[in-house]
This record gives sequence, structure tokens and C-alpha cells, in this order.
Amino acid sequence: MIRKTRLFTPGPTPLLPAAQFAMAAADIHHRTAEFRALYTRVLAQLKDFVGTTNDVILLSSSGTGAMEASVSNLTSPGDRVLVLTAGKFGERWSGIAKAFGCHVDVVSAPYGQTFSLDEVKASLHLETRAVFMQATETSTGVRHCVPAIAKLLKDTHSEALLIVDAITGLGTTHIDMDTWGVDVLVGGSQKAVMIPPGLSYLAISPRAWDRMEATYNPRYYFDLRKERKNAKNGESAYTPAVALIAALGAAFDWIAAQGDGSLVEGRKRLIENAETISAMTRAAVLALGLKLFAPDAFGTAATAVLAPEGVDSGLFVKELKSRFAAIITNGQGEMKGQIFRIAHLGFFDYMDTIALIGAIEQVVVKSIPQLGAKFGDGLIAAQQLYADRSPTAAADNKCLCGRESTHCSLLHSAAK
Ligand SMILES: *Cc1c(COP(=O)(O)O)cnc(C)c1O
Repeated sequence: MIRKTRLFTPGPTPLLPAAQFAMAAADIHHRTAEFRALYTRVLAQLKDFVGTTNDVILLSSSGTGAMEASVSNLTSPGDRVLVLTAGKFGERWSGIAKAFGCHVDVVSAPYGQTFSLDEVKASLHLETRAVFMQATETSTGVRHCVPAIAKLLKDTHSEALLIVDAITGLGTTHIDMDTWGVDVLVGGSQKAVMIPPGLSYLAISPRAWDRMEATYNPRYYFDLRKERKNAKNGESAYTPAVALIAALGAAFDWIAAQGDGSLVEGRKRLIENAETISAMTRAAVLALGLKLFAPDAFGTAATAVLAPEGVDSGLFVKELKSRFAAIITNGQGEMKGQIFRIAHLGFFDYMDTIALIGAIEQVVVKSIPQLGAKFGDGLIAAQQLYADRSPTAAADNKCLCGRESTHCSLLHSAAK
């Protein structure tokens, strides 16, 4: 049989054909009216996609560049900051903040879980200048409750800025930075916006812009105030990733078309899509006798599945690749061999999901007979879930962060 290579990885994700064509055609110079029109349009679309009235700054770098920019622009050496971490990307915040000389307090949760609000409260000091967290921790499949943390900062009249890595949260998870009071939201191109790696972006609140007037950590290429000044004239400070910017514009047009011409509606469809296909995936793996790595705190960006006792999770990665050319990811760091991860970010649909579940059944039935699963077990569960699902019916039952209330007690405990 022939095999078509398909990515089911949480970044890079599969590319949107319209974006690929736009990239190939983007033979323009960055100091021309043509580019200025493109850049101005894409920055406006980016605001709608993020769902904010704040300025959004676009950088030519992978997501980590924007994470670094938020640390270097918003802190000074010796600043006390709080990092909330429950995985590899949370640990990255600590690493960056330390590299820029911050005094780093850490609240951590075991991999596969989210942090306790009481611990966050106890670790927030009068001098805490910034709080860093993920909306979704891609290494474990966990979704953190951003509105609960934002509310805590408001309720305690904290001066700390809230900086959220939403690199896999955007486009998979309901986020309302302006209403909640998030100061910086970080995104990246190779995730839900379905284009290659190489662009990152930050939405920045007025409070955070004010903070930049006084901070003095070193910055040059990632100088956000310089970028903002240039963006007002439709340009970036240095040569931007022109082709990727054209691709991003095409991706936003496509997302808007999914929402009958409205990018705001299109983003909602993208989130509903991730919610539906992640729920199908969870139902299928549970029906096959597998277990979720984050049964109480799972998100919709990626599903992390525990390999059964005595089985290396690399078996799934290897078999899916060699037999079906389906690329999934192993666990990162210490989680390697224990979990495998399936992405729901961006350009995945019902058809992709059903096909992958079918392939996972092949691996389970052939290679892990001790689970006692038979062909169809996972597919039946996913089909039934799809048929019964009504996204609006569940809305009442949801936390502001989008998780079903039974799975997110954080905001409810914050409200007490
Ligand atoms: C992908 C990702 C990043 C960024 O990684 P880069 O390789 O620098 O693009 C950061 N945070 C999260 C949660 C991610 O999923």
C-alpha cells in the first residue's frame, strides 16, 4: 500500500494549502507600499484572531523568541517574578527569567496536572513584578485556568503583570485577554494558524507598555517598543519574514471563511473543532483500554495518552509512522517512553481524526493484545460522541477557561 505522510504533531502542524500558495507568490520587498498594505492588514487580522483591542506585535522568530521578548522587555535584573509550571514549557519560562537575572519564585504541579490556586496565592508577594504561565502546557496536554489566575491578581490588587504563553492555547481554547486582564498573550505561527514555523506574536496591554518605560534588561532585536513604532507605519524594524506574513494573511482569510466571513466567528469554529476532535480522541483511546495522562486537567490543543504498563510509548510513535506514515509525538524529557501525544491544533478535521483512531486501533489490536480491545471499539466511541455532541448544550456547564466545570474547580474556588 502507499502511505501519505500526515502530521498529528502539536507544532509544526499540517499546512493550509492556501497559505502555501500565498508564500510561494510573496515576492515583494519589505519597504514598499505593497508590503505596508499586507502588514497593516495582517496586524489588524491578528487582533481579531487574538480577540483583543491591544496592540499586537509580530516577530520573526519561533515562539520562544516572543517568550524571551516578554521577559527582556518587561523585567529588570533582580525583579521578583512568579512562574507557574507543570511541564516543559513552564520550565522554559523559569529558564528565560533566570537568564535575564530575575529572582524566580516557582509554583509547580506534577506533570499531567494543573497548579493549586492556594499555592499560587501563597507564592504571590507584594514585590512580585510578573507572573508567567501557559494557557495550555503542550508537553502534558494540560489546560491551565488563566481566568482564575487573572482574577486572583485583580482581587489581591497585585501589581504583577500576567504573561501567558498561549502558543497552543490560541485557536484551541477560549481566551478573552481584555476582559480577564491578561497583560501579554504570546502566540506562534506553526500551531493553530496552520503555517510554517518562523513567526511569533505578542498582544500587549497598556499596563505592560507602561512597564516597558522603566525596565532595563538588555534587548536589541526583540525591542517591542521599536517594533510598535515601526508597525504604526506598516513596517517592521528589520527585514521581516515576508513570505510567512503573506501566509498568515491567507490563513486568516481561510479562518474567516469558516466563520462566514468573520474572523472572530472563524476563530470560534476553530476552537469548537479542537474541542470536538479532542473529545472524539479521548473517547476512542479510553474505549480501547488506554488511559489519559491528564484525566482531570486535559485540554483541547493536544491529547497525551499513557502507554499501558510494560509498553514503551515509542511503540505507538514507531508503528503509526512505519505502517501509516502518521507522525505523532512521544513524551518530552522524563515523559519520553511513557506518553504519546496527538495534536488537535488547526488544520485537522473529522476525517483526519477518524482515520487516526482507526490506525491506533490497528496498533493496539496487533501489538498490545493484553488490552483486550477489538476493531471498532475506539471508532464506535468516537462516532457516538460526534453524533451526540452539541457544542452549545455544554456551554452552561463550562468554566470561563472553556473546560467543563467538573474538570475545572479553579475559577469556582477563586470565586469563593
Ligand atoms: C510550541 C510551543 C512553544 C514555542 O516553541 P518554539 O519551538 O520556540 O516555537 C512555546 N510554548 C508552548 C506551550 C508550545 O507549545
